[in-house]
Amino acid sequence: MTNRTPDITRAGVKWQGYLPGNYRFFWSQVWDPLHSGKEAAFIWSIWHKAVAVNEWRARIAPASISKQCIFCLPNTSESVKHKFWDCIQARRTWRWATYIMHELCGVRTGHLDSFNWKQTLFGERTPYKFRKVVKIWHLLRGTTLWTIWVEWNDKVFNQEQWHESKMKYSRIWDTLLMYAHTAWQRVLKLIKISKFSAVALLQNFDRTWGARQVLCRRNRLITEWNWKRYIS
Ligand SMILES: [Zn+2]
Repeated sequence: MTNRTPDITRAGVKWQGYLPGNYRFFWSQVWDPLHSGKEAAFIWSIWHKAVAVNEWRARIAPASISKQCIFCLPNTSESVKHKFWDCIQARRTWRWATYIMHELCGVRTGHLDSFNWKQTLFGERTPYKFRKVVKIWHLLRGTTLWTIWVEWNDKVFNQEQWHESKMKYSRIWDTLLMYAHTAWQRVLKLIKISKFSAVALLQNFDRTWGARQVLCRRNRLITEWNWKRYIS
């Protein structure tokens, strides 16, 4: 089995009741060369429910471990889907990721519900209005899932309550800018080795990472990065 073979059987079994039995995971939506291996491996764990959650822990030791979510508390059961999608902590993080996508694509709506849980967790078909930056979306999804996980760990093991700005800027925004920066370095390198395609390379960059000057402003071969954007 290669890395690109969808793991059909286990997907259907692992997510029984949530996904159809023949549901397919698509590797192309995880294995982006810009993606850190850490995040790609983490998404793989979520897909296979290999991330420990209280619902599962409580089943093993019902007397000592509560199945409830540490963020939402009473009457919740912390499943994998809850932790990375339904939880108030996850909702807050996805709202920010969605806001960034709206900015990149010029979507003007106050509603930050453009994506559903299968699109965020499994990379299922991205809405048409975001097609131009679909590559960025898949990177952003990985960063968002990883951020939800790190914030949860900080709360559980370090008793640290994150301020919203830590999630938004120190984690997600800065990581996205680092991806953009890496993509830009690649453009510069390609221009150097094959000068004839410089125009096409720059146009492609402007359409994606440079879209609407949300992440950066480009003037010829100089880019100015918006590290502080949205921070008031
Ligand atoms: Zn919760």
